[in-house]
Amino acid sequence: MINDALLTAVDEELEKSPWRLKFTDEVESRFEADTQQHRSRNMVVAGLIAASIYSLFLINDYSFRPDSFVTAVQLRIGVMLPIGLTILWWVYRGVAPAIRETLMATTIVVAMLVSCLIFSTSTEPYSYLDVFSFGLILVVGNIIYPLRFSYACVSSGIGVLIMLVFIVDYDPMPQEAKRLAMFSIVAKALFTLFANYRLERSERTAYLLVLKEKIWSGYYLEDNRKLSRLSVTDPLTNIANRRQFDTLFPLRWQEAIDKHNFLGLMVIDIDFFKAYNDYYGHLQGDQCLRQVATTIQANSRDSDLVVRFGGEEFVVLMPNATLQAVRQAAERIRHSIEALYIPNEGCHEQRLVTVSIGAALLRPTKRFTPDDFLAHSDAALYEAKRRGRNCVWMANVE
Ligand code: GH3
Ligand code: MG
Ligand code: MG
Repeated sequence: MINDALLTAVDEELEKSPWRLKFTDEVESRFEADTQQHRSRNMVVAGLIAASIYSLFLINDYSFRPDSFVTAVQLRIGVMLPIGLTILWWVYRGVAPAIRETLMATTIVVAMLVSCLIFSTSTEPYSYLDVFSFGLILVVGNIIYPLRFSYACVSSGIGVLIMLVFIVDYDPMPQEAKRLAMFSIVAKALFTLFANYRLERSERTAYLLVLKEKIWSGYYLEDNRKLSRLSVTDPLTNIANRRQFDTLFPLRWQEAIDKHNFLGLMVIDIDFFKAYNDYYGHLQGDQCLRQVATTIQANSRDSDLVVRFGGEEFVVLMPNATLQAVRQAAERIRHSIEALYIPNEGCHEQRLVTVSIGAALLRPTKRFTPDDFLAHSDAALYEAKRRGRNCVWMANVE
């Protein structure tokens, strides 16, 4: 469907100041709807990898702080893992975007808290060294998941704060090491947030460009459909034109050969139409042609192909027909047009607009061509004209 409003909204987003991330409500909700499933899956995969590596840090705990190894097992496997896996399960099942981001940001805060608890319960001389690897937790949240920028800022802020609170009170850690640790965690937070911002920015820009492309290809598709519809429709009467007939006649013919079905064909010509035109003028002549076309269409089956063959001549192709069906349909059409009571004052022979119909029925075989069939129907029309017009003549084809 052509969507001008959306295209304008997308263009406006692309022109907006480059530091802005969130889109206007309409584009934002579309962005979420289009990317949500993929994003949730990616976050869950990233979360599972992070959870595995986080649990593997038990090796580190074992070698650095054997005195608190049991606590480490309890906290990593007993607390962090169940919380993390539950959150991932939720996100996998699908939740609202804000809840998804909040839940994933929670894993970062809880991981930071658990890591601080593990290192602070140990009095081993090198336990504090682990603090320098806490930046990895921010890397996960800001780059590996990666959280939306605002959530990344909040979770990084809380994570850094938790760590600062823990190391300030941790006696076994030398002052200089504390200063270095604080400086390095703040620097890691800033670097990863910067990367996070750029990731989100390019994801959003790429989305807008692809969306714009999709809208345009929708335009082209719709345009092409309209053009091909127009190219097979007669503009005056809005029924199929000769081109459509030339395309479909051989196809219906072959179909009838394959299925051993009969085909019916009518050639319908308005009687004394030149006189009508001469008397009422061309514009009213056109109006009369429309009425006749509509009447023929209304008296045909949906499966019949009703065509304006040219001028004041129409053709009806009837797949899977019988002799009786063709005869009845032709008579019905002839009668319905007479019953329109369109006066034809310019004509001395007949006072109303009527039609003559030449009809034929045939089971197509290789012996005949579609043109032969058309010629037979045409000959029948000629006979109907010869027999005084306003009548139906059936061709004897076999
Ligand atoms: P007959 O009963 O033998 O068919 O007589 P006729 O006058 O209908 O046949 P003829 O072929 O002499 O005239 C056909 C007329 O149809 C001539 C032309 O003015 C008219 N005609 C053809 N196409 C159009 C059209 O698109 N609009 C209008 N208004 N008239 C058309
Ligand atoms: Mg004619
Ligand atoms: Mg005519």
